[in-house]
Amino acid sequence: MPNFLPYALPEIGQAEIDEVIDSLKSGWVTSGPKTRRFEQEFKSFLGDANLETIAVNSATAGLHLALEALDIGPGDEVITTTLTFTATAEVVRYMGADVRLVDIDPITLNMDVNALRAAITPKTKAILPVHYGGLSCDMQAIIDVAKEFNLKVIEDAAHALPAVYEGKLIGTLDTDATVFSFYANKTMTTGEGGMVVTRNKEAAARMRIMRLHGINRDAFDRFVSETPAWYYEIVAPGFKYNMTDIAAAIGIHQLAKLNRFCERRQELAKRYLAALQDLPLTLPAAAPKNGQHAWHLFVVRITKLSDKTRDEIINHLSEAGIGTSVHYLPLHRQPYWRDLYQLQPNDFPKANQAYETMLSLPLYTAMRNEDQDRVINALTQLFS
Ligand SMILES: *Cc1c(COP(=O)(O)O)cnc(C)c1O
Repeated sequence: MPNFLPYALPEIGQAEIDEVIDSLKSGWVTSGPKTRRFEQEFKSFLGDANLETIAVNSATAGLHLALEALDIGPGDEVITTTLTFTATAEVVRYMGADVRLVDIDPITLNMDVNALRAAITPKTKAILPVHYGGLSCDMQAIIDVAKEFNLKVIEDAAHALPAVYEGKLIGTLDTDATVFSFYANKTMTTGEGGMVVTRNKEAAARMRIMRLHGINRDAFDRFVSETPAWYYEIVAPGFKYNMTDIAAAIGIHQLAKLNRFCERRQELAKRYLAALQDLPLTLPAAAPKNGQHAWHLFVVRITKLSDKTRDEIINHLSEAGIGTSVHYLPLHRQPYWRDLYQLQPNDFPKANQAYETMLSLPLYTAMRNEDQDRVINALTQLFS
């Protein structure tokens, strides 16, 4: 059997390795000059000088900080999609607020805007859209709903770097905050890490304080400014969410490669779309005109014409040495969320239907065309 082909793999080069070694040798291993530089370069990548960029040690931390800075608390409700990773919703519980899950649009697999509208109550304070797989949500519709009901919008952009909606990069839209993930399997990585982006200066200042224990200035400042190095003030019971310079060292070089990474993902997605079109599979929706799919995931669904179940396909690919995954068992079927809100599987029939028929095929920049051909051939053979 040929080597096992994972469904995702980071691509780390010599530049990342050298930069990490430089950090280790410099003695500055935690948040410092490289974290600053990474924040600046991330802002430059997004191309909007009015944005604030706040590096953190995970997207989960970033989502938590954003909710905290936007004053989401007990008695409030936050609406999100059931077809997401639990991190999107768990942060709402950290703040003592409640989650209202909604169903998806069966074509894009993103939050259904009509379901969003229907879920709004007087307690609703925020919408937490997820750009599923790297395809932007219908953000204009979501922003319109938010304006109508005076709600905050916090984008979970863990899959959406770099995704484009109506000609604008995700991260630059007219929302309250956007949070990116640099987890190992995302479109770029820092091992663990995340970035919060916002135009709200006050919220940004709060997040910078809360990411490091509620200290009113970060460790780097303490060593370069006039105030005695030992002096700091605590203004809140903050968290330990700062990004390390070791992680930022990786991020600086991953970011420099991001456009190339994105081009490679586009190529791979195009090859899959062409090669799989005659199989009994629903292929992922493409980005609309003026948009760009970030292709974090390539999610296919079996159609009614398939004589194989999703699990049979996963097993067949696994026997051929090909890794796959499922994104996701919807939150309403996860014990914690199901029991907390007494949810039934059929409360969200479209997410259910998608879940039961979906699998994510391997897609990552280090994948060669020959690797992808193995996946294509294994699927073609299975359905022949
Ligand atoms: C990966 C992921 C997160 C969490 O990212 P971390 O950086 O691991 O905290 C949040 N939401 C979604 C949709 C994700 O896929």
